[in-house]
Amino acid sequence: MQQKALWLLIAALIGINTFTVEVRTYIDIIGIDPSARHSETYLELPARPHIVVAEGERSRIYTGADTGVVVFRNESGWTRLPVTPKRTIHIVFRQTPSEKPQPMLCLLALGSKNRRIILNYPPPSSVWHLPLGVAQLAPLLQARGHGVLQRYGHIAGVEYVLRTQGGPPIERSLHVIRDPPSSISDLHAARMHFEQVSSSIPTNDVFVVERNNVRYTSKDSDGSVAGVLRAIKARESNIWYPYFKEVELPIAMEFRLDIYGISISDEKQFIPCWILASMVKETLPNTLVVLGGNLWPRIKGAYHLPEFAELFDYCDAIIVREGYRPIVELAETLRPSDTSGTVWRDSATIVHINPSTPSPTILEQLPTPVFDGGARQWSPDAVYPLQTMSNCPMHCGFCAISAASDTYLERPRMVSLQRVARHMIALGTHRFDIVDETFLIQRQLTLGTELKRLGYPATWHCYLTITNDLLDQGLCHRLYDAGLRGVQLGLESLSPDTLSRENKTWNTPGNYGRILQNLRAAGIQTHVFIIIGIPGEPLHHGLRWLPFLEQYGDAILTIKAGRYRLTNRSPEEFNNTHSDRIVVEETDPAPLHLNRKFRYCDGTISRKRVEAMRDLLEQACRHHWAYGVTSTVPWWINRGRYTWEELRHMAARIPAQQELDLRKSLPKIRGIIRDELRRDVELDSFEDVLNFSRTL
Ligand code: SF4
Repeated sequence: MQQKALWLLIAALIGINTFTVEVRTYIDIIGIDPSARHSETYLELPARPHIVVAEGERSRIYTGADTGVVVFRNESGWTRLPVTPKRTIHIVFRQTPSEKPQPMLCLLALGSKNRRIILNYPPPSSVWHLPLGVAQLAPLLQARGHGVLQRYGHIAGVEYVLRTQGGPPIERSLHVIRDPPSSISDLHAARMHFEQVSSSIPTNDVFVVERNNVRYTSKDSDGSVAGVLRAIKARESNIWYPYFKEVELPIAMEFRLDIYGISISDEKQFIPCWILASMVKETLPNTLVVLGGNLWPRIKGAYHLPEFAELFDYCDAIIVREGYRPIVELAETLRPSDTSGTVWRDSATIVHINPSTPSPTILEQLPTPVFDGGARQWSPDAVYPLQTMSNCPMHCGFCAISAASDTYLERPRMVSLQRVARHMIALGTHRFDIVDETFLIQRQLTLGTELKRLGYPATWHCYLTITNDLLDQGLCHRLYDAGLRGVQLGLESLSPDTLSRENKTWNTPGNYGRILQNLRAAGIQTHVFIIIGIPGEPLHHGLRWLPFLEQYGDAILTIKAGRYRLTNRSPEEFNNTHSDRIVVEETDPAPLHLNRKFRYCDGTISRKRVEAMRDLLEQACRHHWAYGVTSTVPWWINRGRYTWEELRHMAARIPAQQELDLRKSLPKIRGIIRDELRRDVELDSFEDVLNFSRTL
């Protein structure tokens, strides 16, 4: 009898020490709009920013307050409905400090399937796109019994700073970009409004929402660990600090979480990511702060630096490849040291890099992604990203896009097209953004066939290699019939020699024009990439693009002309392919940046000259018929709602775009022509360069 009482006492003590009983208040909110204007529904809570729920979405909001007001649109205006939160009792597992795990709690944690996890994709990034990574991880974790809250900080954060600076009129512009009937004039006014408000925010950083881009560079973004530490120390002056403090931290505190995951894929998210991590770690020291996303594999060289260890004061682990397995393992154990594919620091401040999982995730088995990060992308309808294949089979020399794949430079892992079609149906929308590095032609045709068999109409936008197969006009039409509506093509160079050096021999520059015309004739929107300054290519080759764009511009919708970058982990970076053409700085002065610093061996090529040539192409883009309209209707997410003809019609109603000031570039172009072609030409305007280019 005495022994039984003792066991009961031990059980009670374990229970008291292990679990916490909490009373929580919540409101269930459903996005409705009886007026059929597709307006969002708002929840107003005292001393908190409004919570926005899209039409048709459901959300449970833990309020921590006694009152709330639901605001939704009806035919005659806005209806305000006071609501009283409901109460619920939660028994939750107590959190375990990650650095000093208590053996008993860890033992119990092994059996627990009830972690609470936030996955945040922080600002700033493209507000027109949704992050596929966190949308894939959320259902994976939920299927294992964990509670997951996604946060699209990249949208909510940008809107927060715009609202703070622009006041109530910003709401009108935010409404316009999501309102299906908005005219091109409305959209242009909204675009200029965002640009004017964002560029007037007082900050030492660069921040502007312009055209199809959210531009941001932190003043501390010099690629060094010291820069990150400086930014964390002075975080209160950072443009994103008020958003993190007023919005993200209260949510994290209310959610009572075990793991706070921050996923980034963009260099501009880097400093904000660390600021957010530092704030979460400071406020919730027992929460495991984990960083992930496809940026981290590309700064692998930095993890060995002694100073990098200090950054683990602000996070517990960094996932450096695919996140599927590591996040599941972390949720099981809360121990970065036992988790595959993580970087972490031990108590002796030594940084460790754990090997990746030996058995990469079978993508076929992933659940359908869930897109509910609490903010809608900037478009009238939902256009979700999907992945049908991990890893690019092509291995171009300059490209490290697939570096985060667990099978980088090995055979790609595929999802069956039957499964892709099922995901589309499960998501219930009809336009998709396929994010594969290249969505192979045959797979697109098969997906079209499968969708037809299932009776589900869907269209998509994707990246595709520009092979000579596309000379077949019938094939372009079949791709359109399958569902292809927009395609991004890497033209890169007009020189077969350059393309061959970059391992891109399937590109045939002589066929670019006809292929673009074929795609245009089939009704498929085209975006082209051009690279200036590829090692070994004379810079004056860049001039050949001007007559090319003039001749085939009708068959091109958007153009991206970029400067050559030596990207970390690209085949030519780690194979030193261009060792006789460029000199790479041995000690990387910016180890946290994605690209290496280098100089050209050829003394006539300099970064300034490359930039002058790039500026010239930028001017050509501004002269392109679609520049204004595609800047106002950003990305296929929005443009995919229109045909080529409709976009042409809209283009005529956009005011003329601002010209670039080429006064500094023209002398450099003249220098390139003099040094490479031994010709002395007068160049006083863009038209002079264009006339000269036609003679090449
Ligand atoms: S440039 Fe395109 S085709 Fe080449 S490796 Fe990268 S993603 Fe693949």
